[in-house]
Amino acid sequence: QNGSRAWRSFATKKFAAPPMTYISGEEMSWYTMKIIREQWVEPFIDTSKWEYFDLSCKSRDETNDKVLHEAVASGKRLGAIFKEPTITPTTEQVKEFGLKKPFGSPNGAMRRGWNGITISRDTIHIPGIKLGFERPVFFERHAVGGEYGASWKGVGKGKVLTTYWPEDEKEKPVIIDGRVLHDDESAVVVYDNPLDNVGDLAHIFFQRCLEANIVPYVVTKKTVFKWQEGFWQKMKKVFDAEYKEKFLKAGLLDKCGGELIHLISDAATMQIIRWTGGGFGMACHNYDGDMLTDEVAQVHRSPGFITSNLVGKSEDGSLIKEFEASHGTVADLWHMHLRGEETSMNPLGMVVALLGAMDHAAALHPESQAEVTKFTLSCREAVYEAFRTGNGTRDLMGPNGLTTEKFVEWVAKNLEA
Ligand code: NAD
Repeated sequence: QNGSRAWRSFATKKFAAPPMTYISGEEMSWYTMKIIREQWVEPFIDTSKWEYFDLSCKSRDETNDKVLHEAVASGKRLGAIFKEPTITPTTEQVKEFGLKKPFGSPNGAMRRGWNGITISRDTIHIPGIKLGFERPVFFERHAVGGEYGASWKGVGKGKVLTTYWPEDEKEKPVIIDGRVLHDDESAVVVYDNPLDNVGDLAHIFFQRCLEANIVPYVVTKKTVFKWQEGFWQKMKKVFDAEYKEKFLKAGLLDKCGGELIHLISDAATMQIIRWTGGGFGMACHNYDGDMLTDEVAQVHRSPGFITSNLVGKSEDGSLIKEFEASHGTVADLWHMHLRGEETSMNPLGMVVALLGAMDHAAALHPESQAEVTKFTLSCREAVYEAFRTGNGTRDLMGPNGLTTEKFVEWVAKNLEA
């Protein structure tokens, strides 16, 4: 039997996918995943064990955000999660959707709920096509702390005192900062960088780099932002104790003087444009990771070619993995779609995430691994083939690329063939 006959007989018999959490979102990314589920997933897979949560603003509003808490609890229990991009409503969107309140970022709630360690963002490569980077680029973005967890107030002239009160009340309070504000208007901001899980982040990062033959770098602005020294020190300690020898043996430190290299974040922004050969990884703080990975997305041709996977930890020490694309809800194409205009959304980032979540669910339920792997490999290959044969989306192919719907149909036909 040839491969396609075998696939056909497989396709007529649905297989039961192991449990995972499926979080649906909003706008163009939601619409594209809806038609993908209808045409690529439902004909082949029994998804009744998937736990499905609608995190649209409307659903969060109707359930008073119960749906978010349930989604976080489900992800914690199942350990494998796929998530579509969601909206954190702006003041205008609160009015537009008639929401009861400005709901906070669901991503923040998930990072906290799953004890988020890192958001791993990697370039996706289509065999046979050169995108921006020749070899993979890996990013490890610290999932907690920094500006995202900041509190702030707009104030006038006066004094500000920031004091730390140790948990142990026998210890004396420590003044972190005292300053005089001279302007009529100032923004005063307070945030912290939790450092306890940087060791876990280091292990995830160095192991990934080693497996993929990638040179690791740690990126901070510690020369000026002195408080970032702790992140670098923790990364270096883990590296020197447990990875240095292995990286030296693999020849991955030959151009780094045999040591782990620290890059200042502004230098990193330049290297990302220059190092188009790829084959490097960067670990950094939360905000730097947000910015630098968008730059990587541009060099690599499209936000559709970057993954975004949150790695967290359950109480028993096992890893919780959430798989996402790095882009947002692609609001501009959604508005074109609503106006009846043609769109061309590249679904690869979301599909790689969906297949990644399915593979991880299968790793947690090994009895179904063979069937799941067969499907995820075929599906990934079918999407690659679309791009390779000139049937890709317009972000890569230009004006001759397929529309969102035609691309989904092309791959669906290939899956059925
Ligand atoms: P976006 O990533 O949705 O889009 C940025 C630009 O890139 C747009 O011009 C868009 O058309 C293009 N683009 C992005 N992905 C594409 C793809 N796969 N194929 C073709 N073109 C693509 O970011 P935005 O416009 O700044 O944000 C839109 C909404 O998404 C906002 O409400 C924001 O809050 C939300 N958002 C959510 C997440 C998340 O849930 N993880 C992340 C980022 C933004």
